[in-house]
Amino acid sequence: MFVHVRLPSPRPTSRAAAGSHGVRCRFPVLLLAMVLLLVGTPAHAQLHDVPDRATLAFENVNVLPMTAADEGDAGAVLPAQTVVVSDGRIVAMGPSGQVDVPDGALRVDGSGRFLLPGLAEIHAHVPPGQDPPRELVEEYLFLYLANGITTIRGMLGAPYQLELREELRRGEVLGPRFYVGAPSVNANTAPTPEAAEALVRAHAEAGYDFLKIHPGVPRDSWDRMVEVAREVGITWAGHIPADVGIDHAVATGMATIDHLDGFLQATRRDDLSEDTPREEVFAATDPAKLEALVERLARAGVWQVPTQYLWNHLNGYVDADSLLALPEFQYISEGQRMGYRNQAEQRRRNPEITPASDAAHRAMRQDFLRAAHSAGVPILMGTDSPQLFNVPGFALHREIPLMLDAGMSPYEVLVSGTRAVGEYVASSLGQPGDFGTVQAGQRADLLLVDGNPLEDMARLQDPVGVVADGRWLTREAIRAGLDSIAVKYGDEGR
Ligand SMILES: [Zn+2]
Repeated sequence: MFVHVRLPSPRPTSRAAAGSHGVRCRFPVLLLAMVLLLVGTPAHAQLHDVPDRATLAFENVNVLPMTAADEGDAGAVLPAQTVVVSDGRIVAMGPSGQVDVPDGALRVDGSGRFLLPGLAEIHAHVPPGQDPPRELVEEYLFLYLANGITTIRGMLGAPYQLELREELRRGEVLGPRFYVGAPSVNANTAPTPEAAEALVRAHAEAGYDFLKIHPGVPRDSWDRMVEVAREVGITWAGHIPADVGIDHAVATGMATIDHLDGFLQATRRDDLSEDTPREEVFAATDPAKLEALVERLARAGVWQVPTQYLWNHLNGYVDADSLLALPEFQYISEGQRMGYRNQAEQRRRNPEITPASDAAHRAMRQDFLRAAHSAGVPILMGTDSPQLFNVPGFALHREIPLMLDAGMSPYEVLVSGTRAVGEYVASSLGQPGDFGTVQAGQRADLLLVDGNPLEDMARLQDPVGVVADGRWLTREAIRAGLDSIAVKYGDEGR
């Protein structure tokens, strides 16, 4: 009856109406719609009914505490544990039989299952604008949770998001913990040092957690931004403006670089001209420059948020039909799917984007990530949902195979979405980094999955359950919520 949330390979045919699993699931989805109509349940009950914080005991569970340096270390996987959650915190953890389970706790059988910290999407977006439809906001937040994501960093702020952050903290809306970037610092908002200064002061005053940088910021605006941001105690993240360049951005203390921005500019071979075709530029970056760059980044400890899956599409010669046939597209609107299709078609009409340039570009970006990772540059997990073909939540599970392909081990990939994010929040945002590991005292943000994700990272999808700030969402509740979204957008498509 439930729509699966596993992610198969693209199907050759275009998306078949609402069910998107083709004829097999079409009937059950319709049936669910009819049942919901008959019983008069609001279609989105699962999305806006926030469960209370539960007292939970995961028993006899394998724990990936994510405190070990790497997966070979003793303590990377702790078998037969009991983990107790109460009032939004992990309150006890130890070998089963040695941990007291409080009376009234909901006992969850962990046999054969693995418990790990909830994941983070560090380049997320919630719906833009000052007053987006509330239902859409709730859908995005739910899609993140449904995919095991209990922390998001919003990368383009608006005033409503500051209130949303507090509503999430108070448990008035169901969703991940939300760190809110400010509205964009760019060529238009910070054309002069004076404008940059006013902007930074206003954003800090408003209570944003950090500044979001877009391309185009002039260097003198940048320098004033840095000075004022230090004074008011706020950090900045995002793009590398061309006028600033990656070395100056790093030297002045940029916290995270998103999209491996600035890499191509910094590693472009000197003998290439302005007229060199894109595919040659992509295929011929300077390996010595790349090596030097990643060494500098590693020394400075600047986090990279690669977003490889997105950039494959942004500069890609992609087939919209096969992408839109992926199951996650049932959870977004027809309008959004059309938008993706139009963007993909625009790219295919661009004479500079060819199958060859696409292949060279993908290979180049994977080389960048491989070099950065092997030099010890810290990586954070993120996708830039819902940009081009990135469905919130689901996109993270599309990004993971690309991280593995670039030489990260499954354990390192998990670190990038768990412990490292806690470290980033503590060191860069100056807020408690009390999450991203499974330990007594930590925020109760957890993910329970069917098997060992270190053996197969696809096991992170379709979780047995998610604990978000101490609130327990079962697989059944997650699937029911996803179904209600699919039904809504399926109806809309007819
Ligand atoms: Zn973004």
